[in-house]
Amino acid sequence: MAAIIDGKAVAREVQKKIKEEVDGLERRWGMAPGLAVVLVGDDPGSHIYVKNKEKACKEVGIKSFEHFLPATVSEKELLALVHSLNKDKDVHGILVQLPLPAHIRSERILQAVSPFKDVDGFHPVSQGMLVIGADGFRPCTPLGVMKLLEAAGCALKGKNAVVVGRSNIVGKPVALMLLEKHATVTICHSRTASLRDEVARADVLVVAIGKAGLVRGDWIKPGAVVIDVGVNRLPNGKLTGDVEFETANERASAITPVPGGVGPMTICMLLYNTLKAAKDSIQRER
Ligand code: NDP
Repeated sequence: MAAIIDGKAVAREVQKKIKEEVDGLERRWGMAPGLAVVLVGDDPGSHIYVKNKEKACKEVGIKSFEHFLPATVSEKELLALVHSLNKDKDVHGILVQLPLPAHIRSERILQAVSPFKDVDGFHPVSQGMLVIGADGFRPCTPLGVMKLLEAAGCALKGKNAVVVGRSNIVGKPVALMLLEKHATVTICHSRTASLRDEVARADVLVVAIGKAGLVRGDWIKPGAVVIDVGVNRLPNGKLTGDVEFETANERASAITPVPGGVGPMTICMLLYNTLKAAKDSIQRER
């Protein structure tokens, strides 16, 4: 049986450290990191996300500023809000909740966020920094995956890491972050000739597809470390990952559950990036 990598427990530990650092900033500089969250429309799922983010900020002492806009808001109005948040000294991080309504060009909005406040790590500047291995904001979910691997004591140097999925928000950035840690990285996608063979070579497997149980447990190399990013709702209402858990659990040395694996780390990494943004702003002003 594999060790279960408990995302909730790791997130709690990381959050504790973030809170200590936030308290330190308050004591030394008399300032609290601030996160602005912009939500357009009234999608109930997005509202729950935003509420959870607000709660998590409060727990660690980060100030949160919510901006709820109607679905009819124009692109120009939304851009004006982003520009004003870019200038606001109390706001260190800006997160624009996706998806945006169809009449708004998401890239235009995401690119309008100051790269200094890009706590989501979606700005082309942040993505470029990741590609060249320079300091910058890393996207939250891939950063959470890396923290889980670290917490599980998984050495990456020289290991075969296989990433299934090549999206800009998970697959590609996590592959680059594994490369940064000296793993030998393979990226798989829907046109990969034999997914089974690629998966079978993985010492470290990160799966981000969005299809329940697509990666079969018996493909997994014995002793591999498996991180399942996928979140899929089954007809019975339960959440499940992209990896067939029961059989994978018998072969892997460590594995993340769904739910309770990567999910709890994502908001935690948003707090981490907001703290980083606040610390960076102090450095720039000194
Ligand atoms: P995307 O839909 O953007 O990307 C999915 C990727 O999977 C694509 O690269 C696609 O390949 C690949 N793929 C699809 N079918 C196959 C197949 N049969 N074999 C191999 N590869 C395949 O999804 P995201 O990256 O945004 O999200 C992936 C999953 O992670 C989702 O379940 C999502 O809900 C979850 N997620 C969870 C988060 C969390 O906090 N826990 C955060 C973000 C995402 P191609 O490029 O060729 O189409």
